[in-house]
Amino acid sequence: MSKKPPIHIADLDLAERKARAVELGIPAFRADQVSRQWFSRFSDDANEWTELPESERLDIAEKLAPELIGKVRELTTDKGETVKTLWKLHDEKLVESVLMQYPNRTTVCISSQVGCGMACPFCATGQGGLKRNLSAAEIVAQVQASARFADRGLLPNKDARLSNIVFMGMGEPLANFDAVLTAIKRITQSQPEGLGISARNVTVSTVGLIPQIKKLSEVGLPLRLALSLHAPDDELRDELVPLNKRFPIKEVLKAVWDYSDTVKRRVSIEYALIKDINDQKHRAALLAKRIQGRSVHVNLIPLNPTPGSKWTATSEKTQQEFVEILENAQIAVTVRDTRGSDIDGACGQLAARATQ
Ligand code: SAH
Repeated sequence: MSKKPPIHIADLDLAERKARAVELGIPAFRADQVSRQWFSRFSDDANEWTELPESERLDIAEKLAPELIGKVRELTTDKGETVKTLWKLHDEKLVESVLMQYPNRTTVCISSQVGCGMACPFCATGQGGLKRNLSAAEIVAQVQASARFADRGLLPNKDARLSNIVFMGMGEPLANFDAVLTAIKRITQSQPEGLGISARNVTVSTVGLIPQIKKLSEVGLPLRLALSLHAPDDELRDELVPLNKRFPIKEVLKAVWDYSDTVKRRVSIEYALIKDINDQKHRAALLAKRIQGRSVHVNLIPLNPTPGSKWTATSEKTQQEFVEILENAQIAVTVRDTRGSDIDGACGQLAARATQ
């Protein structure tokens, strides 16, 4: 058994941080100072914390805000607008996050687990299985690092500020529910308790764990929910998303509509278009039938290549026909760009190999 990640102020709310400081022999107000540095200024470098006595900075940082994710490598594409970072955790395990600058928003795609236990055959992350859950602070640290990157003017648009968070990196966020929920609280609480990002701009993507979808709807935050559907019929979905055998389509969709009603937000359906597997007209029609009239938006993702997979993306023409069938049924649909696919940073390509 490997050691648990060190406790960090990002695991704790403000009151808990003060209690923890006192427990460690540090005056409570230091917890506020470190919080302001870490959450409001995005600083993780104790040498910059000039309001703390110089002789104590490193010791306090080590105790309250230890480094959880160390940058191993950064790959950049799209003229610098897409940045994939490989992070090493305290136990040498690796995860990735992807920062994307758009004209009207800046989004980071973060990981919630090392690996993934859902075993979807078209996704690179699923192939290695689940290694372990991330702690709340390990999740928040990916967001804080991205906020810092934008804040320090390192994206092409120097004024870009991190605005959107998507739990679409490695892992199944709802299978690490407690840590993900704590991380969401930290991401959305105002500074310096949290990072001050609007819950409306946080998307949780899931293969469809029904009990956890229900729990998420009871949290009381207007989070966006995305369901990775990928097939409108159980026979095919059983193969593409093995969890479907436990939570079949009809029940998953019901949970998603209930979420939408409770939280009063439109939900997204993700559908990776795989040539000759799930891209047929009859499947588009069946998908339309199952979701028509609901508060929903469909995100079609042209399949991104993964090592060893026999599958490829749908042709442009078939993709267009699929789109039209949905549009004719008055369903909102967009085709997601394949941002970062040249650096293996697109959907389903995150596998965190150090030698890539
Ligand atoms: N486990 C969660 C979070 C990961 S999100 C989930 O599955 O929703 C990553 C998104 O990319 C999911 O919608 C996933 O189904 C999709 N995806 C996985 N592999 C892909 C691939 N090779 N090409 C395109 N999309 C893929």
